[in-house]
Amino acid sequence: MRLVLLGAPGAGKGTQAAFLKEKYNLAHISTGDIFRHNLKNNTPLGLEAKKYMDAGQLVPDEIVMKMVGEKLSEFADNEGFMLDGFPRTVAQAEFLETKTKLDGVVLFNIDDEVIVKRLLSRALCKDCGNVTNIHEHDKCPACGGELYRRDDDNEETVRSRLKVFHDQTEPLIDFYRAKNLLHDIDATGKPEEVFESVVKLLDHD
Ligand code: AMP
Repeated sequence: MRLVLLGAPGAGKGTQAAFLKEKYNLAHISTGDIFRHNLKNNTPLGLEAKKYMDAGQLVPDEIVMKMVGEKLSEFADNEGFMLDGFPRTVAQAEFLETKTKLDGVVLFNIDDEVIVKRLLSRALCKDCGNVTNIHEHDKCPACGGELYRRDDDNEETVRSRLKVFHDQTEPLIDFYRAKNLLHDIDATGKPEEVFESVVKLLDHD
């Protein structure tokens, strides 16, 4: 199964991807995680991407497409994966068409103000990557690891990321709907409830 997880930043794509990986044994390809990994290792790609990430802007298409093209070439034809955070523009979606055939696109719908609230309290575990709430935990509830906040989870950057989503990524909704690939999910509830809806959808397809 090859899926795209589509939705605004903070809609819960990463959390759902972790559940999906467990249940369906799908590889999780997150372009944001690849950039953050490069940044941590001070690679030229990471340093180039940082300029855009800090401003809440998209990294230019050519850079992202080259990176994703290389990543996808590691997969055999029968291997499943889900893309999280890619594509984010129509040009990226058109590029993806030339690389693979998708089985579906899951759209996580959620209100902007719920997202702002969520991202301003989001913390991640340094050890296991678990996503949690900084106001509820001071250590990772899953493994006891140290928590950190993403640099781009501040209100100004979050609002830019949302604007970029509405302007540049939302056109993908029509793009994929026209191809009969789009499935809407209400992403407002608890992660487990959202996952139940995703499973229902995938198991009935
Ligand atoms: P994310 O973790 O998906 O929220 O991504 C964090 C940041 O990485 C974004 O705000 C962008 O600056 C950059 N980024 C991730 N994926 C893409 C993409 N497909 N196209 C352009 N920029 C991206």
